[in-house]
Amino acid sequence: MKRLVILGAGESGTGTALLAKAKGFEVFVSDMGVIQDKYKKVLSEENIAFEEGKHTEDLILNACEAVKSPGIPDKTPLIKALKEKKIPVVSEIEFAGRYTSAKKICITGTNGKTTTTLLTYHLLQSGGMSVVLAGNIGESFAKAVYEECKNKEKDINSDEPIYVLELSSFQLDGMYDFKADIGVITNITPDHLDRYDYKIEKYVASKFRIAQNMDEQCTLIYGIDSELIENTLPDFETDAEELPFSIYPDDLDGACGDEEGITIQIDNEETFIDLNSAVLKGKHNVYNMMVASLIGVKLGLNASQIEAAFATFENAAHRMQLVAEINGIKFINDSKATNVDSAWYALDAYKEPIIWIAGGTDKGNDYTALHKVVIGKVKALICLTKDSDKLKESFKGIIPVINESQNIVETVKLALTLGKSGDIVLLSPCCASFDLFKNYEDRGNKFKEAVLALQMELKV
Ligand code: ADP
Repeated sequence: MKRLVILGAGESGTGTALLAKAKGFEVFVSDMGVIQDKYKKVLSEENIAFEEGKHTEDLILNACEAVKSPGIPDKTPLIKALKEKKIPVVSEIEFAGRYTSAKKICITGTNGKTTTTLLTYHLLQSGGMSVVLAGNIGESFAKAVYEECKNKEKDINSDEPIYVLELSSFQLDGMYDFKADIGVITNITPDHLDRYDYKIEKYVASKFRIAQNMDEQCTLIYGIDSELIENTLPDFETDAEELPFSIYPDDLDGACGDEEGITIQIDNEETFIDLNSAVLKGKHNVYNMMVASLIGVKLGLNASQIEAAFATFENAAHRMQLVAEINGIKFINDSKATNVDSAWYALDAYKEPIIWIAGGTDKGNDYTALHKVVIGKVKALICLTKDSDKLKESFKGIIPVINESQNIVETVKLALTLGKSGDIVLLSPCCASFDLFKNYEDRGNKFKEAVLALQMELKV
């Protein structure tokens, strides 16, 4: 029996364990941290051996293959030891991809992955297709494949679903033979460089892995307005059909458009998607809707089906989400904006004067990219962080009022006093959240609580 070792017992590790057990592997799961009860329950119920709080090398270095959680860096001594012993280390996506022949739509990029993945899923589902959402979002791909296999056992005529997968660069790094039928790179801007030896080309190469193994039947969609993508293309070769998207019109196959509408051109056929009733706003979301439209048209949907789906879409929380309006001031939660580029799009999306809440754990940010969008629009900045020196220094003389706070309740109250009716209070931090919060969700939720509490207090 082949021994499969799974490192990390989160969503992807537990899903892999289920699938591997069903496929006849001897499975061992090892997690350096504490395993959540819900995952322990699944492993115990399936009689899958596991350990937590340690990695016992004797039980790991005898594996035929290891599946690593995307959170574990390659530089970890255990991963190095596995590689020295020539034990293949792959990602959950690579492993699970071996057990399904269903169509896979895979979406990566620095920003917009979740929005685009959810939107594509919603679009295809509204168009009557049988779709499964997985990957870096919701349920793991391995768990979904496990369920597909179980359904097939029960009913050999069961329909193959279409998988819509969000993929991070860490997942792509562990993928070798996996083939995406439709692959998307939304955009690439510097992020996570600590995991790529601070070499941007390594990060870019990781994103382009989405195209590896693609043949003429496959489609690669990418955002050509992203400089790092554009600069990579001259040296990039693929057999796949290429569908670029841009806000600048071109008569090549692909998508272009603006906040009014999108034109899709594929094989000389044009489809116009009117965006007037679309729920998503802002330039970045035009890009995200271009991707979903390209996929929709490619899979046979027409303009009215796509427009209807865009009008009924509900995005995930913490992405330019309206929390409440107090004294005519709108409070927007964009806590998921953890890098400079995503904050740029939020700042650009609003025409109103902004009181901007930013800061957190800086990932080597260069804030000068924000100067142009901030000037004349952001009337006040509140630095919500333990260390605001860099932010203050970067926006001195550019934003008229700069304050600091380490407390979200205080920040929200201060923002209200700084604003007047018609303004926007925007939490779009362009930093990770770990200095003051557990994660971006925690930061967004605490912001939301503080805003709603203030609204109650003022009875408005
Ligand atoms: P990801 O899953 O890649 O982190 P999300 O869809 O969760 O992307 O969005 C993360 C942040 O980036 C949010 O603040 C959102 O408003 C912003 N964003 C969404 N789409 C894009 C895009 N295409 N380009 C730049 N920023 C975007």
